[in-house]
Amino acid sequence: MKLMVSFSRKKVHEPIIARVVKDTGVLINVERARIEPGEGDVLIDVPNGSAEEVSQKMRDLGATVRVLEDAIHHNETECVDCGACISICPQDVFSFDDDWNLVVDQKRCVLCGRCLQACPHGALSLLR
Ligand code: SF4
Ligand code: SF4
Repeated sequence: MKLMVSFSRKKVHEPIIARVVKDTGVLINVERARIEPGEGDVLIDVPNGSAEEVSQKMRDLGATVRVLEDAIHHNETECVDCGACISICPQDVFSFDDDWNLVVDQKRCVLCGRCLQACPHGALSLLR
């Protein structure tokens, strides 16, 4: 399960993720990070059964945590299966099935946002 963890100005230089890994024993996969002088956001992936424990530990350490049920929203009504999103995605989230219908592998998405501009029909959006 993917969690978006946000750090405030005071917490951005603290080893919060390392501390949570040490305290919980849960292996955390960091998929994307944006660290600015005054704040930071880190997209992490954790086993589904550990999401609540990791989220609570992060909150206890001063972070804000959002659980992302689906990383990218695919509007099947708007999609025309043109395939423009397939080549632009660095994570191979998109593919065609045997009938040339678009298939979306949600769990691979790292919320980079590139596919939003690539889609000519506005069929893709990110959960905020
Ligand atoms: S947001 Fe990035 S990783 Fe996710 S589906 Fe779009 S291009 Fe791929
Ligand atoms: S770019 Fe948009 S319309 Fe084209 S296949 Fe991808 S989601 Fe569908």
